[in-house]
Amino acid sequence: MQIRSVGTRLTLWYTSLLTLTFILLAGTAYGFLAYSLSHDLDAALDGVAGTLAKQAHGGATSFFSSEVDEVFRHFFGFSPLDRYFDLRDPSGRSEPRQPLHPAGKLPLSAEALTNASKGLPTFETVENIQNYPVRLLTLPVMKGGRVANLIQVGMSMENMYKTRRRFLLVMAAVLPLGLLLAGGGGWLLARRALKPVDIMTQAARRISGEHLSERLQETGSGDELDRLAKTLNDMLGRLDDAFHQMRQFSADASHELQTPLTILKGEMEVALRSPRSAKEYQRVLESGLEEIDRISQLVEGLLLLARADAGVLRLDLRPVELKELLQEIYEQMKVVADDHSVNLQTASMEPVSIQGDRENLRRLLLNLVDNAIKYTAEAGGVTLSVQAEGEWAAVRIFDTGIGLSKDEQDRIFTRFYRAVEARSQGEGGAGLGLCIAESIAEAHGGRIQVESTPGQGSTFTVFLPQTQT
Ligand code: ADP
Repeated sequence: MQIRSVGTRLTLWYTSLLTLTFILLAGTAYGFLAYSLSHDLDAALDGVAGTLAKQAHGGATSFFSSEVDEVFRHFFGFSPLDRYFDLRDPSGRSEPRQPLHPAGKLPLSAEALTNASKGLPTFETVENIQNYPVRLLTLPVMKGGRVANLIQVGMSMENMYKTRRRFLLVMAAVLPLGLLLAGGGGWLLARRALKPVDIMTQAARRISGEHLSERLQETGSGDELDRLAKTLNDMLGRLDDAFHQMRQFSADASHELQTPLTILKGEMEVALRSPRSAKEYQRVLESGLEEIDRISQLVEGLLLLARADAGVLRLDLRPVELKELLQEIYEQMKVVADDHSVNLQTASMEPVSIQGDRENLRRLLLNLVDNAIKYTAEAGGVTLSVQAEGEWAAVRIFDTGIGLSKDEQDRIFTRFYRAVEARSQGEGGAGLGLCIAESIAEAHGGRIQVESTPGQGSTFTVFLPQTQT
């Protein structure tokens, strides 16, 4: 059975461990108690037998002098006359002058007799004398190096057994009660400790894509649960941003697609309203084609970004000589720059080779050079250069254009972002060019860096890893 509540699982674990500890402790205490009791009993028997032996040795006439009687009563709380003892001759026969135990003769085992003949004492536990076993000591009394008598002293183990049983009874009553209390306490504590998790779960359940601005409550205590709430809140913050960007992206993309489509539709509707000359139809078709070009460029750009996001932008990697590629771009864009009366030129052009996708690199650099020309006023200049810098190939596009503020520099790589001044120029695309350029650079293991001063110009540097030779 799978227990779903952490609180219950914790309590079960805790109670099981506690039970084990209790049982171990109680077992050890019981063992120690049993050992002490039996050790004390043997010591008492030894003491009494020793005193009796001295009496017998001294040739006392009465075996039960008041001294012996006192010793018995001191250790056992009764006199030997009441209980078990026997005096035997070396062969084991009972001395007739001694009183016998009321229940009959104390048994003398062969082992005790053998031990006694060697002068050794024997401790035994004898059953079936009374309801309880009797602990029996057989001690030889030596005279002139020979065994003169055997003294047997016994004591019922009733008290010892009763003490042990009392201990077990107390344990049997206390253990379950202790476990119940400890287990119940543990369960309450676990419930209390995990309550915030329940609250957090309910709060998290309420938060959906539409309510990502909601946050879990942080207690500020800095404990594990507070840290968890903080981590989840940070994650929600990031999700909220991502959702926001996604919505913004969809809205911007729709807007950018809608503009050319509206123009296209409007022009066609107007053209169809009344008969036109062939020349007019051709003009409408040409204009329509321009809008379709804009749409297909936009869709192509979006597709490239989507592939780059998904990490599936496929690059056809081959050795690319950047100096050569930049020279081609220079020649291609010279006409555009002339159209804008911008002076496009090249500066330091070092031969630097990289491993790259030529078509995508061309697209990257064309975007940057096109921007530099677009955002540079008439009579301004755009300079291209390529150099090796350490393990990097650095392609620089320097312009004397409108420039960008610090804040704008941070945002120009955001999709569909266009700086105010660029927008007011009325020129330019949808605000995807730099994002595409950045994605291509990153797919090559490189990056784009921008330095700019508003009103003075900008330098865009593309760093790409050089081919290691
Ligand atoms: P756009 O299609 O608007 O050119 P980009 O992604 O290429 O889109 O550029 C984003 C914005 O970055 C531009 O709208 C412009 O505000 C700014 N920008 C890019 N290149 C330059 C530059 N060389 N000089 C000044 N501003 C630039």
